[in-house]
Amino acid sequence: MKEYIQSIYPQDEMLEKVRAGIIEQGMPEISISAGFGRLLSMLVKLSGAKQVLEIGALGGYSGICLARELAKDGKLVSLELKQEYADVAKKHLTEAGLGDLVEYRIGDAKDSLVLLEKEERKFDFFFIDADKENYPLYLEWALKLGNPGAIIAADNTLMRGRTYDESIDSPTVQAVRRFNEQLAQDDRLQSTLLPAFDGISLAMIK
Ligand code: MG
Repeated sequence: MKEYIQSIYPQDEMLEKVRAGIIEQGMPEISISAGFGRLLSMLVKLSGAKQVLEIGALGGYSGICLARELAKDGKLVSLELKQEYADVAKKHLTEAGLGDLVEYRIGDAKDSLVLLEKEERKFDFFFIDADKENYPLYLEWALKLGNPGAIIAADNTLMRGRTYDESIDSPTVQAVRRFNEQLAQDDRLQSTLLPAFDGISLAMIK
């Protein structure tokens, strides 16, 4: 199936270069899949998002997918724990001609989120793809910093099946379960969890 889908889409040379660059740097090969990247680009375009917040930059693969469809005067703020990862991501976005659209905030995302609130920043789109233990917290922040109608997308919410494997009860799994349950049940959100790739959660703030 994967090969079939890959075969019908023209190679995205820029994104393939980024994937290779991430391997070259010895960074973890956990970028989103090409199909999820295309979905993110479509959602940014469809929603007309101007202010996008990404939690977890890694090497800039998803950053490119988000930034390339930003509305005019749009901006991507990307939170990344590690300076060296943010440097790689910045390099990749610059090579893609998107460097001016992105602002990296380095350090613990929790601290960056507090600062963004102090700066009274608001966002139209959130992409969560960072440490899973803090997914519930990141969701709370998205609700706090999100404009009405804002989209929230999150990666890895099925955790290769661990999320729904009742014999597993690690803090990480518990956190993702809490995240999924809130997404499904919170009256402030309209949402869906797609069993594609490693679990794609999509929500909209009402
Ligand atoms: Mg991920």
